[in-house]
Amino acid sequence: MTAVLAIIGAGPRGTGLLERLAANASLLPAGCEIHVVDPHPAGAGRVWRPDQSPLMLMNSRAGDVTMFTDDSVRCAGPISPGPTLAEWSGLDDDVFPTRRQGGAYLRWCFDRAVRAFPRGVRVFVHQTNAVALSDGPRQTVALANGTHVVADVVVLAQGNVGGHRTPEQLAHQDFAARTGGTYLPPSCPGDEDLDRLPAGEAVLVSGMGLAFVDLVVLLTQGRGGRFTRGRDGSLTYHPSGREPVLHAGSRRGVPYLPKPVLPPLADRAPRFFTPALLARATTPGELVGAACRELVWAHYRELFAAHTARTRMPWDAFASEFAALPITDPALEVLVAQAVPDQADRADTSFLRAPLTRSFPDQAALNTWMRDHLRHAVARATDPRHSAHAAVLHGLLTVSEVLERAAPTPSTARTAAVLSRFAAYLGSGPPPHRLEQLQALTRAGLLHFLGAGLRVTRTDAFTAHTDSLPFAVRARHFVEARLPDPDARTHPLLLPLAHNRTRVPVDPDTFHVLDDTGDAHPRRLALGLFAGGGALGAFSRPGRNAPFFRQNDDTARRVLAELNARTPALTP
Ligand SMILES: Cc1cc2nc3c(=O)[nH]c(=O)nc-3n(C[C@H](O)[C@H](O)[C@H](O)COP(=O)(O)OP(=O)(O)OC[C@H]3O[C@@H](n4cnc5c(N)ncnc54)[C@H](O)[C@@H]3O)c2cc1C
Repeated sequence: MTAVLAIIGAGPRGTGLLERLAANASLLPAGCEIHVVDPHPAGAGRVWRPDQSPLMLMNSRAGDVTMFTDDSVRCAGPISPGPTLAEWSGLDDDVFPTRRQGGAYLRWCFDRAVRAFPRGVRVFVHQTNAVALSDGPRQTVALANGTHVVADVVVLAQGNVGGHRTPEQLAHQDFAARTGGTYLPPSCPGDEDLDRLPAGEAVLVSGMGLAFVDLVVLLTQGRGGRFTRGRDGSLTYHPSGREPVLHAGSRRGVPYLPKPVLPPLADRAPRFFTPALLARATTPGELVGAACRELVWAHYRELFAAHTARTRMPWDAFASEFAALPITDPALEVLVAQAVPDQADRADTSFLRAPLTRSFPDQAALNTWMRDHLRHAVARATDPRHSAHAAVLHGLLTVSEVLERAAPTPSTARTAAVLSRFAAYLGSGPPPHRLEQLQALTRAGLLHFLGAGLRVTRTDAFTAHTDSLPFAVRARHFVEARLPDPDARTHPLLLPLAHNRTRVPVDPDTFHVLDDTGDAHPRRLALGLFAGGGALGAFSRPGRNAPFFRQNDDTARRVLAELNARTPALTP
């Protein structure tokens, strides 16, 4: 009998795992079969599928996306270098590719991995859903097309399966159905039927991150509108007449900061948020303080190095005083005021509190404030004069990397949860030109802001209240523009594995799926947002020893060892 591996989900994670299986092929049992299951094209998967709007862009730059190990990666398996998305496609490193281009790269990576297996290893792709998984001497994966795969080892790599609904969201859905309006719960806007949002009608939008930008693009350019740039560099929107009128707000009240152009960095070593601190810190507060300090430090390190003329103190003197002061100490402000005369050059820590705290008499005044805010945000992200503001992202990346490599403890989990409140705002924002487009859309009267502290209730219509406006805004249509939270319990295949949790429990060290008593299934593994254990979904940058590669390599070798261990038993 042949040893069989099934991989459910062929997005970046399933593809990365396949690449590591091929790289470690010397450990493969002779005559092995690998079955890959995904309803979307293998490699690209759902998020990066080729049949989506070409207007959808990645929020990663082409040079920051790689699916291949390099010398920085510390793993047991062989390093098998390959091109970044930029190198493969010929795009400049700084370009934000379309999601289709990202998907084409991933499909190529998938095919390359398949070709890299030695003779005797056969890879089968089933372009359908896996709908059930049952156990026995071998495991059976039932497929939606009526067939099934019998496998010795199963790896689940299903990404963000979505599905979570709160009672409030169900009530919104019911209200929209009764009142003839529309309610779109959290989802990828590109997966929704946006024709349900009629031209010219007001739509409330909650959320101002990735999904918000997708929604705005699809409802404006996607409906035939155009942007043109004037001689003065400003952008004008020319409506098609088919757009709805959006009223957008969120808890924070402002869109995510645009992805900055990162200045070069000579030394990536953490200065404050170090592995040693993680080992000795006794409270999450200590860790959060050190993380914030790392971000502010990244700002001043860049300012003193690249814009020395705008500082009034030698770096060494500033650095040693800075290092001696807690981040919350008022003496730090005094030090900064002495060393950095221009307020605009000082680190902006409003992301820690609230960037929008004012209130406005009307939406026109809020829109004007917002355009100014967005203009500043774009300048800071793109103008080399403001590279210190961009460098804060270096600090965030450093903190994330230290956290990713640390052994999970309640303190690190709590720290990660606190950081997650602003990490996406700082580091997962859209390409800068998207914020210019938002400004143009407010000038065209198609986008109005609601501000911070958004709550949406149901009266005679959906009704938005915020802390920024003295009145409520009503509309028949309401979109929750954010990606859904995964709920494994809402998926037939995952429900029995979830034990009434929203994520499938796994051993965080090995990604083995745990049963309801906490015992690991030796031949069933799960990696991705739908599972616990910290194997999350985002592209890996080159040269960063990214956890994606280490996790995939470990998993591949574990799978291969298990297949090998079973091969004698399988031989009749
Ligand atoms: C709209 C959007 C844009 C994003 N943009 C970026 C970006 O620019 N940069 C970045 O770093 N990250 C981005 N992300 C995060 C992104 O999710 C990750 O980059 C990456 O796609 C995660 O890979 P994954 O394989 O874990 O999950 P996915 O890409 O979601 O792949 C999981 C696959 O599993 C399949 N699957 C699920 N259930 C089943 C089943 N029952 N049977 C068979 N197959 C199944 C799905 O069809 C899917 O193809 C974005 C996410 C979204 C949703």
